[in-house]
Amino acid sequence: MPRMPADQAARSVNNLPGLDYRAEAARLGPPVTPIIDAHSHINGEKAVRVYLEARRLYGVTLTYTQTRIDQADAIREAMGGTARFVAVPRWQDKDLGRSHTHGYLDDLAVWRERFGARMAKFWTAPRIREIAREHLGDVNALNLDSEWRVRQMQRATDLGMMIMAHIADPDTRFATRYADSATFLAKKDHYLAVERLADRFTQPWLVAHMGGWPENLPFLDGLLTRHPNLHLDTSATKWMVRELSKHPREEMLAFLEKHRGRIFFGSDIVTTDDHLREKSEAEMRTPAARYLALASSEAAAFDLYASRYWALRTMFETAHDGDSPIADEDLRMTDPARYNEWSSPRLRGFALPEGLLRVLYREACEDVLEKWWAS
Ligand SMILES: [Zn+2]
Repeated sequence: MPRMPADQAARSVNNLPGLDYRAEAARLGPPVTPIIDAHSHINGEKAVRVYLEARRLYGVTLTYTQTRIDQADAIREAMGGTARFVAVPRWQDKDLGRSHTHGYLDDLAVWRERFGARMAKFWTAPRIREIAREHLGDVNALNLDSEWRVRQMQRATDLGMMIMAHIADPDTRFATRYADSATFLAKKDHYLAVERLADRFTQPWLVAHMGGWPENLPFLDGLLTRHPNLHLDTSATKWMVRELSKHPREEMLAFLEKHRGRIFFGSDIVTTDDHLREKSEAEMRTPAARYLALASSEAAAFDLYASRYWALRTMFETAHDGDSPIADEDLRMTDPARYNEWSSPRLRGFALPEGLLRVLYREACEDVLEKWWAS
């Protein structure tokens, strides 16, 4: 892939100070152990190559990806044995009512047999309730404990799959976008189903984005203590940087120590060929515009992907204390008088001890996910 000289790297929402993320990777040096990324969404035949450069530079050697099923062949081809596929529904279909019910139920076997997937994802963020109401006429139809989800979980279990769940979104969204609790429920309500289902489907679970509650380590401590089969990942970089940085180092360290082996490194990097091209004005008026706008050239896509590994590694490995290089729209969402679209939160490094880093970066994932995949 042609290399973009550093001086052409544009300042952007993913690179507020205009860092050279290639030079930064060299400055950080190789991680204490090759990293496994337990949570990503790799798509796009061209974008995957940009991703692979960022991954290599930041020392990530294996990626669990929630790829679109119609792109899984191409991504497998590009990534060889360094991709592990996680089953996901067809979000790209127009008929979401079907793709989230019969469609996903039928696809699970294809994911298992053709792509070797050993984990099935259940995305039940609050917004799923709007989708259920719009496409299935029942706000509860796609809740984690709905009839369809439980049928799919049973099928996944019969196919020898783990369960992955996205339960809740940031506190910032519950305070703003999801303030209507009649539609979206309160944040704590979303956990009732996972607490019940984790005891019914007893295989390992991965509850994404620090269980959906990085703001609240005592809650996560209780959740992990009550359910020994639950695991978390550190994915959703902006959310994790904003909220984890707020915890005192001793508290974060104590939490990671106590639950050693149950927290996986994950980025939630999303790649698509749409990041490599300019978008039309019509496209920028669609609901997908927020994601499309994240990058519109190969250099910008590189910065988008590399920035996630830069931020996570800087937070876990170093004693950095300063503004995150990534703008975070949740700041403006919660306090528009104080923040704008270029605002970024404080990123504080935890300078984790080497042994703990090894577990977080690789060993936890090897002990749980890799073992499960190999079984
Ligand atoms: Zn994700």
